[in-house]
Amino acid sequence: HAAIVLAAGKGSRMKSDVPKQYLILNGKPVLYYALRAFEDSFVDEIVLVTGAGQESYCQKEIVEKYGFQKVTHVIAGGKERYDSVYRGICALDGADYVYIHDGARPFVDEEIIKRAYTCVEENRACVAGMPSKDTVKIVDENQFAVTTPARKYVWNVQTPQVFETALITQAYEKLMQHDRENVTDDAMVVEQEMQIPVKLFEGSYCNIKITTPEDLETAKGFIEHQ
Ligand code: C5P
Repeated sequence: HAAIVLAAGKGSRMKSDVPKQYLILNGKPVLYYALRAFEDSFVDEIVLVTGAGQESYCQKEIVEKYGFQKVTHVIAGGKERYDSVYRGICALDGADYVYIHDGARPFVDEEIIKRAYTCVEENRACVAGMPSKDTVKIVDENQFAVTTPARKYVWNVQTPQVFETALITQAYEKLMQHDRENVTDDAMVVEQEMQIPVKLFEGSYCNIKITTPEDLETAKGFIEHQ
């Protein structure tokens, strides 16, 4: 089993000079927590995808400093999330399954990773998510409501997103051969390119992505509670 941990985003929605994955949470960078969860799991290999030019910083200040033994590659990502994922996939060394995870989600844990394993063995392609607590509306470009999907069918999708390596590799290879727009997760690449159903399994309401400044406050609250 291999994990690809993504940390090549600029974090423009955070309005901070430091990308969100390096902000400090309880004395450690946000990125530390996801690496720790995979390091302590049954996953054998971790590919860390960072911003171009940040590879040696990550290697020294995160991988070596905290003694992560399973990180086999620290590589530069690309412009969009899917570029970073594709580079991560190309660096894999032959694992049967790959767990693609946002470095900005520090609260992934052993239980979620175990549920992912059970689910991917059975379904080949699966993603963590939780039922939406809010009603969701699809709006038009002028922000007027167009449709309201039935809430019982609306889930918020998280990571890890977990796949047979051969399947996700083929899906990304197909994706990279044509124009792309609005590709924001890996499941949709499998849905669109492979016509294979992607199963959702239970993540956690704590498994938030640190995206805007208030998320960091929420994360601090979760850590105090633990
Ligand atoms: O931008 P978004 O919130 O979807 O980012 C999710 C994760 O993907 C973050 O951990 C971010 O660092 C990573 N990312 C990346 N390469 C990009 C954009 C985002 O690795 N070009």
